[in-house]
Amino acid sequence: MTVTHLSPRAKNILETIAPIRNFFTDSTWARRASDPGVCDFTIGNPNEMPAHSYIETLKRWAEAQDPRWFAYTMNKPSARKIAAASLLKWRGVVYEEEDIFLTNGLSGGLVVVLGAIVEPGDEVIFISPPWFLYEGMIIAAGGVPVRVSIDMETHDLDLASIEMAITTKTRAIIINSPHNPTGRIYPPETLQALAAILEKASGINGRPVYLISDESYSRIVFDGRVYPSPTCFYPNSFLVYTYTKVLLAPGERLGYIALPPEMPRRDEMRSIIFAYQMLSGWAFPDALLQHALGDLELISINLDHLQRKRDRIANSLRDMGFETNMPEGTFYILVRSPMAEDHLFAEMLSEYDIFCMPGAALELPGFFRLSITASDEMIDRSLPGFKAALRRVKGEG
Ligand code: PMP
Repeated sequence: MTVTHLSPRAKNILETIAPIRNFFTDSTWARRASDPGVCDFTIGNPNEMPAHSYIETLKRWAEAQDPRWFAYTMNKPSARKIAAASLLKWRGVVYEEEDIFLTNGLSGGLVVVLGAIVEPGDEVIFISPPWFLYEGMIIAAGGVPVRVSIDMETHDLDLASIEMAITTKTRAIIINSPHNPTGRIYPPETLQALAAILEKASGINGRPVYLISDESYSRIVFDGRVYPSPTCFYPNSFLVYTYTKVLLAPGERLGYIALPPEMPRRDEMRSIIFAYQMLSGWAFPDALLQHALGDLELISINLDHLQRKRDRIANSLRDMGFETNMPEGTFYILVRSPMAEDHLFAEMLSEYDIFCMPGAALELPGFFRLSITASDEMIDRSLPGFKAALRRVKGEG
């Protein structure tokens, strides 16, 4: 008999994150990702040198301007001010500076929000296919994850299923738009209807059902689309944003939580959010990144280039006979796997030095996901491999 000292919660967490942990540490990709010649379409990582402007900004702000430059830094007032100004520019909403909390990217913001609102046993709804750490984060916060699938035809939220999943124990729902991995931007009508469902449930439950809005890709939208934030439709919302996407620098951890001006009892919420920032291991971004925020705010990856890569990959694969979506936003294209066992097709692609995320790891069986943060050169090199693999599956190769 194996003796374990792990608590039931620890075991639950390990089980939940096992597929993705194995992918990161134990897959063919994990072994081969840094090999020369590899075409890496797995995750939203940079594959080209960072922009000169980005490097220069970090260098400039690394020059200390006073003895306290690298002192303990919390929610730096100037950084809060810049984030509030950015939200006004992008959303047309006036946020109070005291309602902005600087975080270590999106992940840091989620941990803080969940810690601040979840009581042991509270249910938190998340949408499947999900971002791969939601479920583990909910358990780690003492909550019970409740999975609701999207409508697989439209990739929109399945509002009827969300409503059915709500119980007296529901504390929050995590919504991610534009959605990784489908690239769908939820339309205003959906968000309005979702808000009505959450209002009703809050009334019945006698406490708010919060909406946690994962807005990682809110600035990564294509074809001139306008991004409607779920937080504009429902006052009991947390807007969680990250700069790791727009700067394509996920190793430099910077983001924020914003409480909408309509959120009731914001003063209490401000206190508990701040407390959780401290209790989550001083979960504030590095002083350097907070100093640099004003200049970082002005930098973005080239969205036209990203959109051209989206078009090139999707159109080339379609010409070969693959079925793909055309994402409205995010870094990802979904492709239907020509083999039912998507992980086997992903393995086959790896024989051509092409690495993708199999649907099995994304709660999306029968598909695979390609990150368009792959370089042009990787895309060029990969196309014959995609073609050859498809021919092999069809018995033509
Ligand atoms: N949410 C979603 C939907 C994501 O795709 C990602 C990153 N892939 C994150 C959260 C995490 O973002 P960050 O690196 O800023 O923590």
